[in-house]
Amino acid sequence: MEIQELVYYLEVPRDIVIVSHRNPDGDAVGSTLAIGRLLRKAGHTVHMILPSEFPPFFNWMPDIDRVWIYDIRTEESVKVLKEADLIWMLDFNSLDRIDKMGEEIHHRVDAKKVLIDHHLDPEPIADLMVSEVQASSTSELVYDFIQDAGWGNQIDLEMATSLMTGILTDTGSFKYNTRPVLFHKVANLLGLGIDLNELQIKIFNTLPVKFLRILGYCLHKRMDIIDEYHTGIISLSKEDFERFDIQRGDTEGIVNYLLMIQEVKFAILITEQPTIVKLSFRSKGEFSVQEFARDNFKGGGHKNAAGGATYGTLSKTVKKVKSLLPLYEKSLKSA
Ligand code: 5GP
Ligand code: MN
Repeated sequence: MEIQELVYYLEVPRDIVIVSHRNPDGDAVGSTLAIGRLLRKAGHTVHMILPSEFPPFFNWMPDIDRVWIYDIRTEESVKVLKEADLIWMLDFNSLDRIDKMGEEIHHRVDAKKVLIDHHLDPEPIADLMVSEVQASSTSELVYDFIQDAGWGNQIDLEMATSLMTGILTDTGSFKYNTRPVLFHKVANLLGLGIDLNELQIKIFNTLPVKFLRILGYCLHKRMDIIDEYHTGIISLSKEDFERFDIQRGDTEGIVNYLLMIQEVKFAILITEQPTIVKLSFRSKGEFSVQEFARDNFKGGGHKNAAGGATYGTLSKTVKKVKSLLPLYEKSLKSA
């Protein structure tokens, strides 16, 4: 399917479900809200469903009240997924990134499917696949898509705000994954009336006190720097989660602090969750954490930001990670 075919298909009102990945970040939420608003304004029936809850610091986002969480509204979500004409997938590259919803969508062979994403190794899960790994964010690709579809004049302040949120969070406020062309698009979005300073305060400077206490604890007590392999590891146990009342989203961004250390090229956050142990990877330079995640933890993502998960205990996982490091010595030293 081509974009123009989709544009033609959308000339009559359709039932559309928009989905993004579990543990939704700013890009997942932002791209979902922007496409949702665009399609609703065009007269379609739109449902936006995320597999699990988003962090509370996105509560202010335009139309966020319309988003359903599959874990909470499972029955209704299954129903609309079964009835949708079109399923629109954003910011993920394989159906196992969206848990049970992935199975529902897999079975919808008769529904049209669109995917817009920027992760490496996308699986062929949609009729129209807009996949560009060089893009800063899915939100940037949604912006391009809206232009390519000829709907650029439909972007309003709310949509622009959602897209900017995705771009800001996925680039760490323009620190990573930027290309010159991104700034042209950002200029257009800002031109719709966004107050960039106010937006950044809403996204980045509204943390609860608890977050800084958790961060302090991580850096003071739970950080392990392995000089030999230019690697930093922070690990949090179930007991840590209880002691600091850590909720979903509270550990967001902590892994990036490790990269502030000059010698560290490979940063790892390992968290012990109720059933799995989750790993977040970041890198500076050429070392591909996507390959590390894919080859060792059934995960994936991008060259400099990836994740994975494993069953088993926290200490076993930390051991496994450390035992893998020598295999990557060469690429870590040259990166
Ligand atoms: P984070 O560390 O912030 O959870 O994720 C960083 C990046 O890695 C994101 O782009 C995310 O989509 C990807 N990622 C995180 N966890 C997983 C995982 O379990 N599997 C795959 N394939 N990608 C992941
Ligand atoms: Mn993204």
